Amino acid sequence: MHRRFANALVNNEFVLYYQPVVDLRTGEIIGCEALCRWPHRDNSFTPPDTFIPQAEASGFIVQLGEWVLRTATEQVRAWQKRFSATILLEVNLSARQFVHYNLVRSIEAILESVQYKADLLEFEITETVAMTNADDSIGIMRQLKNLGIGLALDDFGTGYSSLSHLKRFPIDKLKIDKSFVRDIPNDGNDLAIVSAIIAMAHALGLNVQAEGVETAAQSEFLRECECELAQGFLFGRPLPPSEFEEFFDRYRKGGLVFKS
Ligand code: C2E
Ligand code: MG
Ligand code: MG
Repeated sequence: MHRRFANALVNNEFVLYYQPVVDLRTGEIIGCEALCRWPHRDNSFTPPDTFIPQAEASGFIVQLGEWVLRTATEQVRAWQKRFSATILLEVNLSARQFVHYNLVRSIEAILESVQYKADLLEFEITETVAMTNADDSIGIMRQLKNLGIGLALDDFGTGYSSLSHLKRFPIDKLKIDKSFVRDIPNDGNDLAIVSAIIAMAHALGLNVQAEGVETAAQSEFLRECECELAQGFLFGRPLPPSEFEEFFDRYRKGGLVFKS
């Protein structure tokens, strides 16, 4: 498996898609999440939920993660320049990347060589990754924060979470998992869970970003709960670079409006 991945990387088979992130208060696009894709020559396609765990198991994720960070920072820096805009880049970190001894040094080296500003970068880790060896996690998070990078807990509410650890993490944001957003506004339990997560996050001084927002009713409910940020098909699907660029250009020219 490792070899297949390594060949795919050398042959430039991996691609990054970019999904817009919207500020629900202003309707502005404030950034994008980079999402890795592995299309095959025969037009088939392995989804990230399949190949990321495989890359993780084989250890290849470390190399892939470096490629993702370099490629995404180069791309988003080019857009920041082209549009003279502050575009936040959100990048996923998996468990093995997060605990790799060389993580911080390798990130620092990439940001330095791309000349990418750390305060326009945010890493996403899942709560389960963060909660496993919480003390070590806090140490790694602090080092990333010291570089100026933002931190978010991804898929919040689906993993193993300890509130006593949560309050000690130097994080900036909780991302509400799309499974809680999907049945808004019909499922009363999800409405209760989502509004409680948002209230808790705010009480802890954290921002909230909802994933998987597909309908205006979901967006409206989240806005009423004072959820700051959202991503989902309602605003824009993950797009290949040239399409994201067109999308952003159209938005900058006033051709796309996200305010409800
Ligand atoms: P994630 O980080 O939670 O990413 C959000 C997922 O939700 C993405 O799935 C995205 O395409 C999908 N999504 C966005 N909007 C909507 C919507 O409105 N409705 C629905 N149903 N889905 C939506 P994707 O791209 O298949 O990625 C799956 C997971 O794979 C990611 O979940 C992340 O954990 C992992 N992943 C993707 N790229 C990378 C990467 O570069 N590095 C690492 N370590 N993991 C990655
Ligand atoms: Mg994510
Ligand atoms: Mg997520």
